[in-house]
Amino acid sequence: MTHWVPELLSPAGSLEKLKVAVSYGADAVYLGGQKFGLRSAADNFTPQELEEGIRFAHDRGSVVYVVLNSFLHDKDLEELPEFLKLLERLKVDAVIVSDLGVISTIKKHSNLVVHLSTQASCLNIPSAKLWKSFGAERIVLGREVTIDEAKRIKDAVDIELEMFVHGSMCMAYSGNCVISNYTQGRDSNRGGCAHSCRFEYSLTKGEEKKYSHFMSSKDLQGIRLLKDFIDAGIDSLKVEGRMKSHHYAGTISKVYGEALAFYKEKGNFLSDDLNYWESELSRISHREYSTGSLESAAGTESIYNERQHEQSETQVGAVVLEVKKNQYLLAEVRSPFCVGDTMELMPFKGPSITHKLEKIIDAKGNEVERTRPGMLWRLPFMENADALNIIRVEKHS
Ligand code: SF4
Repeated sequence: MTHWVPELLSPAGSLEKLKVAVSYGADAVYLGGQKFGLRSAADNFTPQELEEGIRFAHDRGSVVYVVLNSFLHDKDLEELPEFLKLLERLKVDAVIVSDLGVISTIKKHSNLVVHLSTQASCLNIPSAKLWKSFGAERIVLGREVTIDEAKRIKDAVDIELEMFVHGSMCMAYSGNCVISNYTQGRDSNRGGCAHSCRFEYSLTKGEEKKYSHFMSSKDLQGIRLLKDFIDAGIDSLKVEGRMKSHHYAGTISKVYGEALAFYKEKGNFLSDDLNYWESELSRISHREYSTGSLESAAGTESIYNERQHEQSETQVGAVVLEVKKNQYLLAEVRSPFCVGDTMELMPFKGPSITHKLEKIIDAKGNEVERTRPGMLWRLPFMENADALNIIRVEKHS
């Protein structure tokens, strides 16, 4: 007997990250095209990349959602119908939208499935009912909603619900922040957020001056709340982070994917496994973790003022491009490493495999002592290795 679990929805900030996330276990990915999304600094997808990415995901049973959640003016809307036709032709599974004008344009020009973005800050039952009447088939709830409140919305409204389970948080209601607009001249709600809330600010009271990151939120991490999400019937668990590394995309997809697969088979979680998954999540770049508003409304304890404790990412040495069975791994090196360092291969399923690096061969077949980033190198063959696997490195010199 299998047990019901929600969809795991991972960020895909680029075509490579899409492939990594899907290969490591994401049921769904979300991404942006060249326009109409909220991450103008991400490597947004060209039409050709969209086509390749959607084919890659669909071939492996995963689905693809495209964000159209920027706040648009009339002149922006003129270009939207053509993009909608492209998305329909490529068989995108849904679009994520926050603006009523965009929803109305989508309904007029396409049959695309509409998901309401968290940007619309839907927090209550009447709001969910109204968005449903406007054509939304799924609502990404505002991050301010607790799991208990989400359950009440789910019980009252026949609509799919999606909630954030992991990632960076806005200290403002998503979609209602203009700090970047006024401090950096960049419009948060049209793809330009400069994360101004993360900066250090000085506070002056009389003669006293204090420096503080008083608006910087801790990061969300909900691995121990998966059972609550499942019991509440939340349809999709979303991970923030289209701007983050492919190591991040792979690790969160693997960890949450493994946890949900475990529950699907066993119907419970074991504390040893939860400890292991939590330790894996601590190896990706993050601020101190919290559960945000998932259990109760976030307060002062959710602000991350101690920047010196920021957790840095475990170093990613390389990404496997090709596996020559029983011969070598062809890998693209991301950060340099040497003979004698410890390689840790992160397979798509199961525990990492570590071994001491005894040999590195360059593209011309010469044995070398150290790699250089951005180049292709042959590393010793490892059982269970696959193309797109991430290799972490522990340096010894
Ligand atoms: S500046 Fe901070 S609070 Fe405002 S939109 Fe950006 S991340 Fe969110």
